[in-house]
Amino acid sequence: MNVKAFIFDGYVDEPACLGVPPYISPYIRSVAGVLSEHGYSVKYLTIDQLRTNPKLLNELNSAHLIIMIAGVTVPGKYLGGTPATLTEIQQIGMAIQHPKKLIGGPIGLGYSPEGGRRAVRQDINGFDAMLEGAVAEALDAYLNGREPRGILDYNRSDAWSVSGSGIIEQHPNFPFIMCEIETARGCAHGAYGGCSFCTEPFYGQPMYRSIMGISNEVAALYAHGARHFRVGRQPDILIYGAAGGEYPTPNPELIDRLFLSIRKVAPDLKTLHIDNTNPATISRHEEAAREALRAIIRYHTAGDVAAFGMETADPTVIAANNLKAQPNEVFRAIQIVNDEGVKRRGGIPELLPGLNFVCGLAGETEKTYTLNDRFLMSVVNAGLLVRRINIRQLMPFEGTPAYINNTLGKHERSFRQFKEHVRQHVDLPMLKRVYPLGTVLRDVIVEIEGDLSFGRQMGSYPILIGIPLRLSQRMVLDVTIVDWGMRSVTALPFPIKINTLPIAALKWIPGIGKKQVARIITKRPFKTLDDFRLVAGRTPLEHLISL
Ligand code: SF4
Repeated sequence: MNVKAFIFDGYVDEPACLGVPPYISPYIRSVAGVLSEHGYSVKYLTIDQLRTNPKLLNELNSAHLIIMIAGVTVPGKYLGGTPATLTEIQQIGMAIQHPKKLIGGPIGLGYSPEGGRRAVRQDINGFDAMLEGAVAEALDAYLNGREPRGILDYNRSDAWSVSGSGIIEQHPNFPFIMCEIETARGCAHGAYGGCSFCTEPFYGQPMYRSIMGISNEVAALYAHGARHFRVGRQPDILIYGAAGGEYPTPNPELIDRLFLSIRKVAPDLKTLHIDNTNPATISRHEEAAREALRAIIRYHTAGDVAAFGMETADPTVIAANNLKAQPNEVFRAIQIVNDEGVKRRGGIPELLPGLNFVCGLAGETEKTYTLNDRFLMSVVNAGLLVRRINIRQLMPFEGTPAYINNTLGKHERSFRQFKEHVRQHVDLPMLKRVYPLGTVLRDVIVEIEGDLSFGRQMGSYPILIGIPLRLSQRMVLDVTIVDWGMRSVTALPFPIKINTLPIAALKWIPGIGKKQVARIITKRPFKTLDDFRLVAGRTPLEHLISL
């Protein structure tokens, strides 16, 4: 094991796979397994580590082989890391002289720097070869002297995922990493044309991993210290293992066995969340979907999100882009997930829907934005809960119908107004409903230091939490919510320790104004909470305060 290989993580984000920190994608782990099998000693480095310390380039240069994993096929904003740009990828590729350099991942489908612009498929300079198709299988072929092309074969990649699981310990965020777990590749709707903008149909007909394959990988990751898992690498978790047509019926018994098997091999896991679900699966197969949701809720951890790719509430756009669900189906699916998931555990809802909108699709007009607004206001007015609304501009990829046929650049003003309207009139009231005053959020990890520090819990779409205190990065604490922004909440450490809380934070306690803050400062330390009450008056968070 003297031959050194580096996995260089430029991060990935796809419709059904996330690998931006704190997430680590399945690509990294299966590639690590292939390299180990071929006798390499495997090192791991991220693009952010190299940006912070360019001297690490020497380390890369000292290896025999470098595998870069990169590519973003859905535009996003990230707190935990910044995906490698095409310029960076090429510059780094050219700066590394000695080792063989291969690159794989969704970068092979094309590149665009941001949403709203076409992603062009192009050669990547600075690398010896592109790993085409299934990345781990392509690497294995290359190392066996064949062309670097791979066809997905879970019989082989399951074993690589297990043998490569130890790579997570080299991740700079470890142990605070979220392991994205793959259960399927390819989309059932894809065989019926797929949604015009989506790259998942490129993976072909759905293929499902076995429960044994998945739980063996989770067990191996757990043995290496992983405690946070998202069963997120699939277009629709509710149809895991289901067969038949464009909208297969969920198999709740199978989903129960899948999640139970994960719990059995990772008994003290801290996070078990999901990601994509197709709202049409839920509304078309209500009873089976309810059972499947209940099975997930039995074994997952609270604060979970079922992300719906709604894309638009305009039937004309739905028809023009072969989208999967009508607005009434999405609305019904929101109701059903609310029925099953809105109850709280530890103060937070078990499972809520999230909504994704894509703007710039074919058929879009000014009216589309009115319909989108109306739809969302109907959700608010019905008293339903939605955890998060993601509005993004189309990033069309070569080979998808949306690459040719779209409305990018035609409704910029309406797009901005729609976003602004949603922030103010939908996001804010939703945040207040989902996280009422005094909600306690456990195990928040500080990610950004400052006078106002920012942290998040591990999870699927965790809420951004501003804490008006200077806290150190990677500190873990419980907090309680004291205010809401449009996309974030403000929180204080829990319990609120009234004798030691800095002045800048005291003023965030609801019901405590400037005058009370001044009085509290002069009268501290308090011997009893009654003494505090006499000075500060009543606050709605009294039950969360300690000395
Ligand atoms: S249903 Fe549409 S958006 Fe979802 S994975 Fe399939 S093609 Fe992509």
